[in-house]
Amino acid sequence: MEKVILITGGSRGIGAATALLAAGEGYRVCINYRSDHVAAKRTCAQVRELGAQVMSIQADVSDEAQIVSLFARIDAEFGPVTALVNNAGTVAEASRVEDMSELRLLRIMKTNVVGPILCAKHAVLRMSPRHGGKGGSIVNVSSVAARLGSAGEYVDYAASKGALDTFTIGLSRELAGGGIRVNAVRPGYIYTDFHALSGDPQRVSKLEPGIPMGRGGVAEEVAEAIIWLLSEKASYATGTFIDLGGGR
Ligand code: NAP
Repeated sequence: MEKVILITGGSRGIGAATALLAAGEGYRVCINYRSDHVAAKRTCAQVRELGAQVMSIQADVSDEAQIVSLFARIDAEFGPVTALVNNAGTVAEASRVEDMSELRLLRIMKTNVVGPILCAKHAVLRMSPRHGGKGGSIVNVSSVAARLGSAGEYVDYAASKGALDTFTIGLSRELAGGGIRVNAVRPGYIYTDFHALSGDPQRVSKLEPGIPMGRGGVAEEVAEAIIWLLSEKASYATGTFIDLGGGR
């Protein structure tokens, strides 16, 4: 069976690091992104240089119609997805709950919760023996925020990752007898451009003194765990979480 991986939000940060490692593991790599064509092109070129087949597809994963088109294109060009990394995620400016608008909450929940659930749905339709599939593996990219709560900063984001964790447990049990494993990673403070979204691009270096290991993480350290969970080396792991928080 051809190994085909879809990495949502694969153009930058943790997703891009995962795409580069996937290239070395024999996957055909599909990089999804929302709007940054330049980053998607750059990551595609890096993956191609490693000798893997790669394509990038723009799609907003908070919209099911776009997810349907995304999977259809992968079917047509690479064959059905055998591995899904639900990595795309977003956060908004740091603020207290009393200052959060309905619009903000809906945007966070659609991108960080509804999107991954819908992407999993369309992956399961291809992976599950109930639908003619041959199994597969899903990794959700959650956050240590799911257990810490992010008080005073972005409780909405933390709550969205808590929902993703519960989804990971439920889906893993729903699919455990059908050859599909579902796991999650929970990164802590990782050096990517993500923190600019919350209003402070220097956030990780400022917070390093409070991290037990004394430093922020890098995207590759998260990608290694994702690739391991996807692989047959993790064949008995489902419904599990790997925390990559430097001790947080
Ligand atoms: P990043 O560098 O900001 O990259 C985010 C990626 O997601 C980009 O490729 C972006 O595409 C894509 N994306 C965002 N919204 C999307 C949407 N609606 N549809 C499709 N793609 C979308 O972020 P990162 O730090 O690598 O974070 C990746 C994941 O790790 C997220 O789920 C995040 O919550 C989680 N995480 C990160 C940290 C951290 O410290 N960095 C910690 C814990 C958890 P465009 O650039 O085209 O918009």
